[in-house]
Amino acid sequence: MNQQPVALITGANKGIGHEIAKQLAARGFTVLVGARDVALGEAAAKEIAGDARAIALDVTSADSIAAAAARIRGELGRLDVLVNNAGVVRGGASGPTTIEALIRRGAPSTAEIADIRAVFETNVFGVIAVTQAMLPLLREAPAGRIVNVSSTLGSLGTLTAPGRPLGTVGGIAYGPSKSALNAVTVAFALELQGTAIKVNAACPGYTATDLNAHSGTRTVAEGAREPVRLALLGPDGPTGTFSNDDGPVPW
Ligand code: NAP
Repeated sequence: MNQQPVALITGANKGIGHEIAKQLAARGFTVLVGARDVALGEAAAKEIAGDARAIALDVTSADSIAAAAARIRGELGRLDVLVNNAGVVRGGASGPTTIEALIRRGAPSTAEIADIRAVFETNVFGVIAVTQAMLPLLREAPAGRIVNVSSTLGSLGTLTAPGRPLGTVGGIAYGPSKSALNAVTVAFALELQGTAIKVNAACPGYTATDLNAHSGTRTVAEGAREPVRLALLGPDGPTGTFSNDDGPVPW
């Protein structure tokens, strides 16, 4: 069995996931850099100081998920932290990248069902499938932690607050997929109550990455802060919560 604790971060070949992997490696974890294109994962792992290894993982592929779980079991024999970070804002490879175009494409009255389905496939069903596959390993860990990288755009409380500070940016696909992810977080946390595993959701804040054509106002170091904090929670830490680095976010 691997001596160091092991963390798997999905979608870690770039953006916030890559930074989470860097920060966990700096804390002494063996990090598994999940990437659907393993060549990108290998390049990203090389940029991380410490024990970082690329792992092929497309969260929408049952075969890929099963192969990743089998490799972790065979090669490392343990998994302590799972960060479900992989996420998309739109279906298909070549969608709009500006916020304005996303709002148009995500308008509830006109959005295409196939686009919405594709976003849910990664952001919701991908998280459930990866979590289910990794749970046997996480249950064996002394302090299993699951962190789901969500978004305030999925916060129904924030979206309906007086003045509606977030307007319609979340649309019908991305925002609702993150609301569903929050519900999935609570569902796993409830089932795993009484075990050593804690399951929480984090919003990184509006972070400059490819996801928003680098229009975000936060750095990836800032975006990774809350997911990393939740990955490192001690035994008295909470489970079934949704937070950013300012504190709790309304469901
Ligand atoms: P990003 O730079 O676009 O990175 C997204 C990552 O997810 C990439 O590594 C991407 O891989 C991967 N991915 C997409 N589909 C995948 C799949 N089917 N299987 C495996 N990996 C897949 O975006 P980011 O901003 O870092 O986003 C990370 C997380 O933060 C997402 O869940 C996002 O919703 C959330 N978030 C971001 C912001 C923000 O302002 N940036 C705000 C709130 C929440 P490829 O390189 O192969 O595409």
